[in-house]
Amino acid sequence: MSAAKDLLAIVNACVVTVDAVGTIVNDASIVVGADGKIRAIASGAVAHTSPTVIDAKGGIVMPGMINAHTHMGMTLFRGLGDDMNLEDFLGRLMPAEIAVLSHEAVVAGTELGALESLLGGITTALDMYYLPDAALDVAKRSGMRIHCGPNLLESDGPEPLPFAQRMAWANEWLTESSKREQEFSLVNGFDSLNWLSPHSTYLLGEDHLHQISALAKNHGAHIHVHAAETVGEMSLVAKRHGGRTPISVLADTQLLSNAVLAHGVHLNDADIALIAKHGASVTHCPASNYKLASGTARIVELHNQGVNVALGTDGPASGNDLDLWLAMRLAGYVQKTAATDPTVLPALDVLRMATINGARALHIDHLVGSLEVGKFADLVVLDAFSPSLTPVFDPHVAIVAAAGRGDVCHVVVNGQVVVRDRTALTIDAPAIVKRVNELTPAILASVARN
Ligand SMILES: [Zn+2]
Repeated sequence: MSAAKDLLAIVNACVVTVDAVGTIVNDASIVVGADGKIRAIASGAVAHTSPTVIDAKGGIVMPGMINAHTHMGMTLFRGLGDDMNLEDFLGRLMPAEIAVLSHEAVVAGTELGALESLLGGITTALDMYYLPDAALDVAKRSGMRIHCGPNLLESDGPEPLPFAQRMAWANEWLTESSKREQEFSLVNGFDSLNWLSPHSTYLLGEDHLHQISALAKNHGAHIHVHAAETVGEMSLVAKRHGGRTPISVLADTQLLSNAVLAHGVHLNDADIALIAKHGASVTHCPASNYKLASGTARIVELHNQGVNVALGTDGPASGNDLDLWLAMRLAGYVQKTAATDPTVLPALDVLRMATINGARALHIDHLVGSLEVGKFADLVVLDAFSPSLTPVFDPHVAIVAAAGRGDVCHVVVNGQVVVRDRTALTIDAPAIVKRVNELTPAILASVARN
């Protein structure tokens, strides 16, 4: 009996591995075995048995990017509340969500988000939204790795359940998650579905946070939470939680350990020390932060204190897109400007934020986030003939300072080609655009009513 064939071979590649020392392998081949994992990266030709070959034509091949904080279902509301602050934005958005969200609507929004993500080189997302089963439906069909779990707020959402019932549902959902992991073994075959997303310390009281903490502990679930995004949030939290910061409230309710903290804009030195001590990650969302004038996160200080900093787009209703190339650019440029020092956050550090640091935040850095033998083949092939990527003296700089979504030619997740020649193979693009456009009259009507 012959051995199973290799899944994929990529030839003529400049492989930007983003491994621990930033290795770049020129004129290289990558071979992906039948299990979807990289079995060889080497200069020149490598023997393989794959029927599928991608010729990178000398172009850059890099790890698939990881969007470590987003709300993909909110593509439905893109452009609905702009040029306003976070509180006004939420005031406009939340009634529209309650009015129109159903399982089918969240599937449509998330599928549009997955299409935009994959075409733009994002292969994994940490998603926070209502009806997480809808996101998992999309993950199953599209091949994108979507990590999510029950979203917990004390106010009513489109799941109009009292908090106690919502907690019972979350408990049931997490109990089922090991079964789901088996079902998803082809696309999300690892510890990906064991998340709890308490929205924030401004939309949850201390008692609720304690209950969520106990539930997470019971299931060994990871925490994904908004924290310290705006000045308005800081004063709301101080008022609600006895003068404390969001980070100290999360620490006091035992929700901080290994958590993913979205935004982390307004952190004092004690907050940063607490985050470092508890091994939490911060997901920097520069496009959202600057568009909403939320402020500039202290990324350099977080780095210096050993905190893992990942990158995110936030939801496309506030972001307004799912573009991690823009996030990389903004992150690097604004930190350099804030420090009045162009040497801070060099290109490789920024690229790490969009790849391996995201994997670390999601606890999957042993599986994805860099191109190394033994890891799953989640990768992006850039256009070798892109004007903005010509010439390339330093591939890390080319990726961070010159490349964009238009340069993404092919995308692979788990060794499976999901985008070929800029065309999504696992999502029917015209159909999903049509479906989302059909939902807009109901969204507009719900805004007009409020
Ligand atoms: Zn968010």
